[in-house]
Amino acid sequence: MRPRTPNSILTPVPPPAPDPAPDETAIAPSVRQAMRSGDPVCGACGHSLRGLYDSTRCPECGGAIIDVLVRGGRFGPRWTSEAMVGERPLVQIAFGPGPGEERGTARAVIALGDDARGLVAFGDRARGVVAIGRRARGVFVVGGTSFGCLTSFGFVSVAPVSFGFFSFGLLAAGMISVGALSIGAAASGLVAFGATVLVSFNGHVLGGTITLDELTRWVSWFYGPLQGGVARFIFQPLAVTIGIALAAGAVLSAAGRLFARRRRSSAS
Ligand SMILES: [Zn+2]
Repeated sequence: MRPRTPNSILTPVPPPAPDPAPDETAIAPSVRQAMRSGDPVCGACGHSLRGLYDSTRCPECGGAIIDVLVRGGRFGPRWTSEAMVGERPLVQIAFGPGPGEERGTARAVIALGDDARGLVAFGDRARGVVAIGRRARGVFVVGGTSFGCLTSFGFVSVAPVSFGFFSFGLLAAGMISVGALSIGAAASGLVAFGATVLVSFNGHVLGGTITLDELTRWVSWFYGPLQGGVARFIFQPLAVTIGIALAAGAVLSAAGRLFARRRRSSAS
């Protein structure tokens, strides 16, 4: 923030500099506090500018309103851990709008926010090795619409091992399920089981090479025994897709914490 004085009207006005990138840390704590009121405030001194309709300058510090006016409104929670892993904080939380941000952006080993990216990411839009959110992308994924490199659970779910209302994968289970091996209320695939089998090539794929019994044994870790009740087709894939994501999240979080601690102790 440039220092301003009431008589700066007498000094030549320099060309306006391009707005610097919004940075919460660049805003003085007193100003940030004032912005939480939702009032328009002076970014230089924190004075409230509510009701100031016919002045071009901040009555407190004299700054030109066109330069100093900031409007914060109420911000969502923001928190960043002091522990670092490399260049990234171990944990960052950012939900809701913040200074200069319409939505919370979290970038950390463990990131929680509207837009979260990290090894483990939770949020409206989550991207990470483990990603859990409304729109989730990653390796082990749980979300509304979820795309996973390995496992995925979601309303719309796409992954090699996939469980969802609409489920697409190598091993897919769901209400409407499409996969190399697929089980669902409506299922289609090379090998498909379901109330309604839309497309299946069971005979061609299995002809002479492997038996259906062998195949179902190989995939019983995901589907459960196929002769089990319908509940097994729901709960076992559910447990696998969510369980693997949670387990991987726990392992990565623990590894991140371990690494962060070591870095701090070696630095001291
Ligand atoms: Zn002011």
